Amino acid sequence: MKRDHTQLICDIGELSGASSRSPRLEDFLSRSAELVAQHMQSQVCSIYLYFEDTQELVLKATKGLKPEAVDNVRLRLGEGLTGLALKEMRPICEREASKIPGYRYFPEIGEEAYDSFLAVPILRGTNRIGVMVVQNAKSDYFSQEDINTLKAITSQLAMTIETAKILLAIEEQNRDAGSFPEEKPLKFFKGRSGGSGVVLGEAVILEDKRRFFMTEKNFGTGSYSVQDFLKALEKTEQSLQALQEQVEEKLSDVASLIFTAQILMLKDKPFIDSIVHQIQSGRNAVDAVRRTVHQYVHRFESLDNRYIREKAQDVLDVGLHLLEHLAGTALYGQGEEGKIVIAQELFPSDMLKLSSRGAKGVILLSGGITSHIAILSRSLEIPLVFADESRLLKVPSRTRVLLDAGQGNVYIDPDETVLRTFQPALEGARDAQKARTESLDETRTADGARVMLLSNINLLCDLNVARDFKSEGIGLYRTEFPFMIRSDFPSEEEQYVVYKKLVEGMPGKDVTFRTLDIGGDKVLSYYDYGREENPFLGMRSIRFSLRHKDIFRQQLRAILRAGTGAELKIMFPMISSVDEFLDARKQVELSMEELRSVGVPFHQAPELGMMVELPSVLEIMDELAEEADFFSIGTNDFIQYMLAVDRTNEKVADLYLPHHPSILRALKRVVEAAGRHGKDVAVCGDMSYDERYLPYFLGIGIRKFSVDPHWIPRVQKAVSRIDLNEARRKTQALLEMKKVADIERNLL
Ligand code: PEP
Ligand code: MG
Repeated sequence: MKRDHTQLICDIGELSGASSRSPRLEDFLSRSAELVAQHMQSQVCSIYLYFEDTQELVLKATKGLKPEAVDNVRLRLGEGLTGLALKEMRPICEREASKIPGYRYFPEIGEEAYDSFLAVPILRGTNRIGVMVVQNAKSDYFSQEDINTLKAITSQLAMTIETAKILLAIEEQNRDAGSFPEEKPLKFFKGRSGGSGVVLGEAVILEDKRRFFMTEKNFGTGSYSVQDFLKALEKTEQSLQALQEQVEEKLSDVASLIFTAQILMLKDKPFIDSIVHQIQSGRNAVDAVRRTVHQYVHRFESLDNRYIREKAQDVLDVGLHLLEHLAGTALYGQGEEGKIVIAQELFPSDMLKLSSRGAKGVILLSGGITSHIAILSRSLEIPLVFADESRLLKVPSRTRVLLDAGQGNVYIDPDETVLRTFQPALEGARDAQKARTESLDETRTADGARVMLLSNINLLCDLNVARDFKSEGIGLYRTEFPFMIRSDFPSEEEQYVVYKKLVEGMPGKDVTFRTLDIGGDKVLSYYDYGREENPFLGMRSIRFSLRHKDIFRQQLRAILRAGTGAELKIMFPMISSVDEFLDARKQVELSMEELRSVGVPFHQAPELGMMVELPSVLEIMDELAEEADFFSIGTNDFIQYMLAVDRTNEKVADLYLPHHPSILRALKRVVEAAGRHGKDVAVCGDMSYDERYLPYFLGIGIRKFSVDPHWIPRVQKAVSRIDLNEARRKTQALLEMKKVADIERNLL
């Protein structure tokens, strides 16, 4: 029977990525063994891992042999054909293994029945990782093509298996550590990926800052005059100004004024007077600063608004900077530069601050992979892992931490083996740059169908990546980012400047502006939303814009002006009804009239489309398709609202299922309705760059994707491996499945 090797290689690639979602490492290995056995139509597939310290190969997963063999079958390097394959680092294929002198079989595990034998070493460079063995009862079963395929598979799996090996070793260490689990230092934690990249650095726990500040003995016994204090004040202001300028240069669209709250604080007369007064009446200057800062922190924290409360952190930062300048030394000694920051919670502006202070990576205890903090971290190229594990906050500061963000893995105080394993990744982190030249101008499926890959842009700096990867336009510009970071609504002029840069950054290609999509987890600190029990169901997105038409029209005017001469598209988020769409469109017409009346040039005929993010549009897709020029499916929200699963809540992350049958079938309905009216439909949510779903999207007729530009090469490669007929068959099969588990199995 013919075996579909290409499919197998693709599936294993996906499985490698999927390892970050596998709950247990053994499961990942077993799934790999199962998948290979199934595709190779071999009765047995086993994975052995090699442990250098004992120089032993240990059977870690098998499909076909007795399960009790796992962990019990052990071979020395060179022992049997399996050991030999690893020792000599070459595949060994035997048509009648039992007749080979070096063959060592284990009757107790049921191995004797299989005579065709193929062992392929799993290698990473010259590192021996393990061996994959397939066996079959029929003699002369494996061909040269099978050998090549297994070689390709093992090389794809090597990195993941190597990681798995380390994790197993750590688990074992943990098991050996005895019966007092609470005393065990945390060595490893499997969180969820919020981006990609491998980084190593010392840990700094944001929450520790406060503890540090509150502990008097941390500040020495130096005594300082009012003059010293005023000088420290000046120096602190200068350093914050410098930081502000530096970020503004790099992130002109969003960085505006992120440090202003702190700078303002330093100019606040009552704040300064309070400190000066205390020093004059004999209090130690350090103590005076600490007391005043403490009072302010307390005041901020007692406010009702959670986002203002958060400003307490800013005040604390100011206090620390001041004291450091007063004492002339880095008292806290734990700035974020080069560090892995561990935090309970972060706001978008915090992420920008961390980026500007040179933080290397972030571990966040709250949030989810499609939350906007994750989206922002990807734009800022800060590896991020979500890890809902409070013990991480107890990791002693300065402990070395290795973050494998792509896999969502956190290694605390990594040992030599871990470091050695990740050395190439750590060194090659910036080699990603090299890959940028690897994208092709056009994306096509294996059988030649044209697919368009556009970019999701959050910050202007994403444009460079988009261009490097030959993006075919901007499919989604999240206009809210510049709004989220500022301390007040940006003016029409300010918006115009940012939008113009965006348009100029993609000449001759589609530029799709999504109008303001705030609310939910994208909160403006300067706007009082009032108390909202369910912000994701509250005053967010287009609802906000239609409620505040002045702000909406200001934005529309800025877009229309900036879009002159461009392939301009405007898209409304979270549309729930035809009425809302028409109202939004009316605002564009009114904005045009306003511009016309003052004689300002603007784009006269932008395409007007909408995001598909709410279940309510499913029943009215045809009517919407009569009105809208195009659709873009925002799967992040669509899944959230269809399944009622908060996309930012780690606790229900396992219920956030893009492959839920309702989601798959609904996506198909959307595409069909758009098609009936000849309207373009793209996908711009994170689901679109998960390779597992690409065949499905192609199968239902999607030909346009807008993805985080970093993913373009990967998506391009994945698309090029897909055959449309095959994808359609797979799609049909998936549509007929009723259980999530069945779909999941068939995606892998
Ligand atoms: C989405 O919801 O899928 C989307 C692309 O928009 P955002 O992630 O900004 O909500
Ligand atoms: Mg959305």
